[in-house]
Amino acid sequence: MSPETYTCGQCHFEFNKGVRVCQGCQGTVIYGATQQETNEAGSFGAIIWAVLIALLLYGLPALLNKYVETHFKIGFGLGFTSLIFLGVAAMFGYFRGMTRAQRAHAGECRTFR
Ligand SMILES: [Zn+2]
Repeated sequence: MSPETYTCGQCHFEFNKGVRVCQGCQGTVIYGATQQETNEAGSFGAIIWAVLIALLLYGLPALLNKYVETHFKIGFGLGFTSLIFLGVAAMFGYFRGMTRAQRAHAGECRTFR
């Protein structure tokens, strides 16, 4: 079994998989998504999902009441419990965003200097 090799995107030095620093240019070798990419995608996902659920919980009843003349309570009467839904949605969004970033960069090997 021959070790997997990568070519440095900065200096074209060839190195084996698992190397953390390129011997050619001393750049930091990152496999897959960087911590920053993962965090950013996670935060973005968290915001999107929290906003979506907020719209569903607070916006939807208001809209229905106005246009369909229903009598839903804002937040569907959940009160502070609705905040738990927002929190769970944000966590779900964070996890989803993280997973997406990791998938988007899976198998990539980049060198940062
Ligand atoms: Zn290099």
